[in-house]
Amino acid sequence: METEPVFCPYCGQDFEVAIDVSAGSHEFTTDCEVCCRPFDIRVVVKNGVIEEVSFEA
Ligand SMILES: [Zn+2]
Repeated sequence: METEPVFCPYCGQDFEVAIDVSAGSHEFTTDCEVCCRPFDIRVVVKNGVIEEVSFEA
């Protein structure tokens, strides 16, 4: 597991989420630590390295 910083698309809070790089590229939903609203995180993993993290409401 690695952690990556993300920004909540609702309240703008930045916090870190744990990402399972062994799962390869994937999407999951997380809840903002501050406003508790769920949003989608899309992770691109290449050769076991996180290449891109994007997130949207
Ligand atoms: Zn938030």
